[in-house]
Amino acid sequence: MRIHRSGTAAPGRAPGLALGLVLGLGALTGCGLGSSGKETSPPRTGEPVQPPAATAPAGGTASQPPASEDTGDGGAADALRGKTIVIDPGHNGGNAKNPSAIAKQVDIGNGRKECDTTGTETNAGYAESAFTWDVSNRLAKLLRAQGANVVLTRHNDTGVGPCINERAAIGNRAKADAALSIHADGAGAAQHGFHIIEPVAVKGFNAKAVPASQKLGRAIRDGYHEGTGVAYSNYRGTKALDPRSDLGGLNLSTVPKVFIECGNMRNAGDAAKLSSAAFRQKIAQSLVTGFDKYFTS
Ligand SMILES: [Zn+2]
Repeated sequence: MRIHRSGTAAPGRAPGLALGLVLGLGALTGCGLGSSGKETSPPRTGEPVQPPAATAPAGGTASQPPASEDTGDGGAADALRGKTIVIDPGHNGGNAKNPSAIAKQVDIGNGRKECDTTGTETNAGYAESAFTWDVSNRLAKLLRAQGANVVLTRHNDTGVGPCINERAAIGNRAKADAALSIHADGAGAAQHGFHIIEPVAVKGFNAKAVPASQKLGRAIRDGYHEGTGVAYSNYRGTKALDPRSDLGGLNLSTVPKVFIECGNMRNAGDAAKLSSAAFRQKIAQSLVTGFDKYFTS
């Protein structure tokens, strides 16, 4: 099914989403991240899809493991201790019912854009906001177990927003050592894999943080790829790294920050993984490894 990015979608052009969700349908497309995503025809469609890991624990690993086991690299168990990490769970569960609130235009440094978007969902109706909320909480728990100071940009999955400029401001005010916005994409059914979205320098705003953000992006990419086995995106970025200048959450961040699109919720193989609680725990663990790589490299 063709997916329209919210920034370019004409109202009512959302065929196939017969889920009874009328409000917010216009924005329930793509990942809701904006207009620069173009539909492409990926040359590869036959790549094998790995089944969700059934053996990963769904939340029990933070009990009392030796700290070094969670870092994945042995000698850097304290790399996260005392670090301030801002986790931004993309979208919010109440956004779809409040289209006027999230449609409000905000300044993103090089233009204006809607406050927030609804995000996407799997064909079975698992919402991106629920996915990002779940992964973010699993990740926060693991990071805190290693001594990190974790700040979430929202506190439930039933509210509205915050706006993308505020999501950036939360990281700035916290003087975060690193910030990560968690998303999943809504692309074509044959498109799959994950990618990192890196900032592009916007003068007067994020420029000083771009080099560190690029380092963070590589570390998160490597941690995620190694930890989950999810393939690099076959439709966005180069080796799963995609620089963009149209995202307020990156343009306005004065601290190192990237987005991760953990997979494509409209691809059957990716959706099966993202819908698995055990796999989401594996995602959280892999992101811990990514942060650890960032702080130790
Ligand atoms: Zn998203």
